[in-house]
Amino acid sequence: MSLARTMEGLMAGNSVIRKMFEMGQEMAKNYGKDQVYDFSLGNPVAPVPYEVKNAIISLLENQDPHEIHGYMKNAGFDDVRTQVAEHLNSRFGQNYHKDNILLCAGAAGGLNILMRCLLDEEDEVLCFAPYFTEYKSYVSHYKGKLAVVPMRADDFSLNLDAAERMIRQRTKAVILNNPNNPSGIIYSEEELLLLTKMLKEAEERVGHPIYLICDEPYRELAYDGREVPYLPNLYRNSIYLYSFSKTLSIPGERIGYMAISDAVEDGELLMQAAIITGRTLGFVNAPSLFQKVIGQCLDVKIDLGFYDRNRKLLYTELTEMGFTCVPPQGAFYLLVKSPLEDTESFVKLAEKQHIILVPTDGFGLPGYFRLAYCVPYEKIEASLPAFRALAEDCRN
Ligand code: PLP
Repeated sequence: MSLARTMEGLMAGNSVIRKMFEMGQEMAKNYGKDQVYDFSLGNPVAPVPYEVKNAIISLLENQDPHEIHGYMKNAGFDDVRTQVAEHLNSRFGQNYHKDNILLCAGAAGGLNILMRCLLDEEDEVLCFAPYFTEYKSYVSHYKGKLAVVPMRADDFSLNLDAAERMIRQRTKAVILNNPNNPSGIIYSEEELLLLTKMLKEAEERVGHPIYLICDEPYRELAYDGREVPYLPNLYRNSIYLYSFSKTLSIPGERIGYMAISDAVEDGELLMQAAIITGRTLGFVNAPSLFQKVIGQCLDVKIDLGFYDRNRKLLYTELTEMGFTCVPPQGAFYLLVKSPLEDTESFVKLAEKQHIILVPTDGFGLPGYFRLAYCVPYEKIEASLPAFRALAEDCRN
């Protein structure tokens, strides 16, 4: 075998989301695209805001091509880092400056950089179930261990008692994703204050910082006027990660940023390490044109109604059909409880109706399915008879 032994595990656990997505593509070839209801992938279909296109055209027409397509400091263009810092300061009352900001290749790029910077072999990173399934690979790439805090049965709040017990000397960081993929839950300020209190006490106990990595690509997708609390305002050792993939519908462009304030313990050192790491991992820098684009799009207001309509339709209809769904508050995912004990059989029944959904075992949540409703509204409308037939099949 020519591959590294460690690839075996990684390939065996290859993302179930991708597998289901590929199955959907195969089914679309066989039955026609409009006969397949694919809810597998968080690939946003809301229109890319016109400001993005305008920024691209204006940059291509008016800027020096060698500047917008060339290398720059590994942390990113200084002017864009300043724009990001000022944007965060005006929104959240922080005191960031350009040296607190690293532009990175999406949240995934930022998370990999952080894991490389923080982890020695056997160091631990905590996350709460259910969690974004890729965290496992991001941590294991750097020989760390992902310690998953189990959820209390059918309760999507943070299990802080268990988390407190699981924090030990080797715990370097906690990753928190809010709004949450896959649950669609938004953790409230009240709950986050309890988390940060617990973490501050844990830091004292272990005698070193426990970084709270705030993974927030869905920050702007919060419905019914809900607020997503800004964690760096609640906890000193927060590292904030944002991505434009979901809110601007540009996941292929690989653009996001990391913010580490002056207050963070060893923050300056961590930022220097992160800048070097981006280069040595081979990202080198975030895509240059899109750094400039997002510099011009930081204040773009997204059309929240686009996904909100989908959310309401899917939740209301599925609930009426008898499915048990977790009321979605943010992001664009709906969790449905498996009506059958045997989840494999449920996937098969759904497939029979050409419905593609993702079992959430790999997200640390057995017995549920995730539906990504970042699809056209018409697709959801068209899928309802298939869901009705599925509900019927489950009863028989
Ligand atoms: N974090 C979460 C919770 C996600 O759901 C995703 C993508 O689905 C990512 C990070 C990575 O996003 P990207 O690298 O495109 O910014």
